[in-house]
Amino acid sequence: MSESPKKILIIEDEAPISNIIKFNLRKEGYEVDTAFDGGEGLKKALTGNVDLILLDIMLPVMDGFEVCKQVREKSNVPILMLTAKEEEVDKVLGLELGADDYITKPFGMRELIARIKANIRRTSLQAGEEETVEVKEFGNIVLDLNRYEIKKNGEALNLTLREFELLKYLAEREGKVFSREQLLEEVWGYEYYGDIRTVDVTVRRLREKLEDDPGDPKYIVTKRGIGYYFSRG
Ligand code: CA
Repeated sequence: MSESPKKILIIEDEAPISNIIKFNLRKEGYEVDTAFDGGEGLKKALTGNVDLILLDIMLPVMDGFEVCKQVREKSNVPILMLTAKEEEVDKVLGLELGADDYITKPFGMRELIARIKANIRRTSLQAGEEETVEVKEFGNIVLDLNRYEIKKNGEALNLTLREFELLKYLAEREGKVFSREQLLEEVWGYEYYGDIRTVDVTVRRLREKLEDDPGDPKYIVTKRGIGYYFSRG
């Protein structure tokens, strides 16, 4: 591998957890920075040239949800939430606020590293490592599939990587209906133990950004009882 090492920011107040993650990520060849409260974490997230953020929820100064929200206002860096509980509300709220993924504690290092790799791989694709340019136009929407850019009425929309991946996947297969399970497998792209509501939440966020009327979507359409498909509006 000739690329420079990717930098991961761990925002986690429990030093033993932070340390063991740091140790394992360094062993994998990542550069690691740490923050032990939400305020410090937010600052490093926005200034540190970070490739991915591991974000705990229960943090001093500012909780992980607030950090996630504030990072998302300025950056599309992949955010992987570390949720302490099995509670669905944590996961769904994290995704609502723009996190790309979550992992429930306690987690194995292999699983964590697999998820980090999957999320960073998408960022590398986003950075334009492909050779060809592929632009698709659907009505007032222009999708640059390789540069991961989308414009609506000439104005750039600010999608997270996951939202773009989902849109890209559906738009490249216009009119074909996919179940939530299929989308989880294909778009999230690795063995994913999350539940299918992850797909619904991402679709909802995507619609809010993309559709003129998110309550009556023209592009990301629900096929009742089956799943979703892309229509050119
Ligand atoms: Ca904590």
